Amino acid sequence: MSDKHFEVAIVGGGISGAALAHVLSSYTDIGSIVLLEKYDHLAPLNSSARNNSQTLHCGDIETNYTLEKALRVRRQASMIEHYARIHGENDFLFRYPKMVLAVGEAECETLAERHETFREGFPYMQRWDARRIAEVEPAVALRGGHPRSEPLLASGTTEDFSAVNYGRLTEHFVHTAHQANPGLEVVLRAPAEAIERDADGPYAIDTPQGRYRADFVVTAAGAHSLLMAHRMGHGLDKSILPVAGSFYHTPRLLNGKVYTLQNPKLPFAALHGDPDLVEPDKTRFGPTALLLPKLERYTGGTYLDFWRTLRLDGTVVRVFAGLFRDRDIRNYILRNIAFEIPGIRKRLFQRDVQRIVPDITREQLQFAHRIGGLRPQIIDKTAGKLSLGESTIQPPDQRLIFNITPSPGATTCLGNAYRDAGEICRQLGRRFHRQRIEDDLLEGRPLD
Ligand SMILES: Cc1cc2nc3c(=O)[nH]c(=O)nc-3n(C[C@H](O)[C@H](O)[C@H](O)COP(=O)(O)OP(=O)(O)OC[C@H]3O[C@@H](n4cnc5c(N)ncnc54)[C@H](O)[C@@H]3O)c2cc1C
Repeated sequence: MSDKHFEVAIVGGGISGAALAHVLSSYTDIGSIVLLEKYDHLAPLNSSARNNSQTLHCGDIETNYTLEKALRVRRQASMIEHYARIHGENDFLFRYPKMVLAVGEAECETLAERHETFREGFPYMQRWDARRIAEVEPAVALRGGHPRSEPLLASGTTEDFSAVNYGRLTEHFVHTAHQANPGLEVVLRAPAEAIERDADGPYAIDTPQGRYRADFVVTAAGAHSLLMAHRMGHGLDKSILPVAGSFYHTPRLLNGKVYTLQNPKLPFAALHGDPDLVEPDKTRFGPTALLLPKLERYTGGTYLDFWRTLRLDGTVVRVFAGLFRDRDIRNYILRNIAFEIPGIRKRLFQRDVQRIVPDITREQLQFAHRIGGLRPQIIDKTAGKLSLGESTIQPPDQRLIFNITPSPGATTCLGNAYRDAGEICRQLGRRFHRQRIEDDLLEGRPLD
C-alpha cells in the first residue's frame, strides 16, 4: 500500500486530468505528480471516443455559441492542433469536411446573417449553396437523386481539423508527460474516496491502492468533482443535472461533420451527423439529451452519488419546474426520452435525421448500444438556473481546484490545463514556463 507525498495530485484520468499532467510535466518545474484514475485504463468515461461526438469544437459550426464564446473556444481548440503539430504524426487528430446546415427559408436567412457576423473571426468558412453542398455531401443535398425541394444553405470548410479521438489523445498526453517527467506516477484502479485535510499533506487522498498526500489537489473527475467539492464544504451553491447523450449508427452516409442550426430556446446542442473514428464504415447521428439520475452512464451505479450531488431543495425544484414549464423544452425532454424506447425510437429519430439526410430509412438506423456519455450540467443555485458551460470551483486560500467539464470540455482541455498550471505554480511558488507554452501552443499570446 502506498503512502507517498506528491506536490500535485490529479484525480481523474480523462482528457482533463491527462492534459494537466502533460502541461505540469512539460512546462513547469514541478516533478512529483500523481494521477489517480478510478478504473483500470485511461479515459474510460466521457473522454473515450465511443462516448462523445469526437468534435474539435472551433465555434464555426456550433450555432449555440455566441461570437465571443466561439472565438474563445477556437483558440483553445487550436492548442490541440499545435500540440499535434509539435508531436508529428499522430493517431488522434483528423481532417474532415464540416458544415452547419440550414434547411428552409427561415433557417437560411438566420444562417446567412450568422455567416456574415462570424466572417471576420472565421475567414476560412465558406458560404455554400445547394450545388456546393451536393459536391461535399451528396446525401444531404439530394433526395432520390434529385436536388431537395427546400432551400439549403451551409457555412462550411473542407480544410480544417475537425475530429479528435479524445481517448487516444488522453493516452498521448500521459505518454508525453512521462517522457518530460519521470517523476509522474499514474495509478489505475484508484478511486479517490475522499480528500481530507491532513497535518502532513496538507491533503490526503485515500484509495484502495493506498494513501496519497499532496500539496495541491486538482479534481478532474467529471460530475464526481462536484461530489468531492461538496464533501469538503465547497461549491454548495451548485447541483448536477446529468444529461446522457445517445447516438444512432447508419452505414457511412456522410463524408464529414454536418451540424444543424440550433433552436435558441433549447439548452442542448442540436443534432448532428459525424464520421465515427472508431467504426469508420459508419456515420453517427446524435447525441440525444436524456436526463438520468446517475453520474456515470454505463458503469452500473452512481445513483446515490447523483442524489448526494443534487442537494435537492426549493431552488433545484424551481429550476426543474422552470424547464418543464416551457413548452418547447418540455417537448424536447419528452422526445429525448422517447428516443430511448425500443419500438418507437427509430421512427421518431428518423424524422429528425431526415433534416440532414432526407433519404434516410428506418432500416439504416441502428441504436448505438453502450455508446454515449453523460454531460454533468451545473445548476447554479445562486442564479437559480441551469448553467450550460464548464465550471471550476477554487476555494480561496486553499490549494484545491475542482473542475466539472461538460461539452466542450474535451476541446478546451489544454486551455483549462494552462489556466490551472498557472494557478498551481503561483500558489506553490514553482516556475511556470508561460512564454514557452504560449510559443508552442498559443502563437506567443496569452489565453484570455
Ligand atoms: C454525448 C457527449 C458528446 C460530447 N461531445 C463532445 C465533443 O464532440 N467535443 C468536445 O470537446 N466535448 C464533447 N463532450 C464533452 C467531453 O466528452 C467532456 O467534456 C470531456 O470528456 C471531459 O473530460 P474529463 O477528463 O473532464 O472527464 P471524464 O472523461 O468524464 O473523466 C473523468 C475521470 O475521472 C475518473 N474519476 C471519477 N471519479 C473518480 C474518483 N473518485 N477517483 C479517481 N478517478 C475518478 C473517471 O473514471 C474518469 O476517468 C461530449 C460529452 C458527451 C456526454
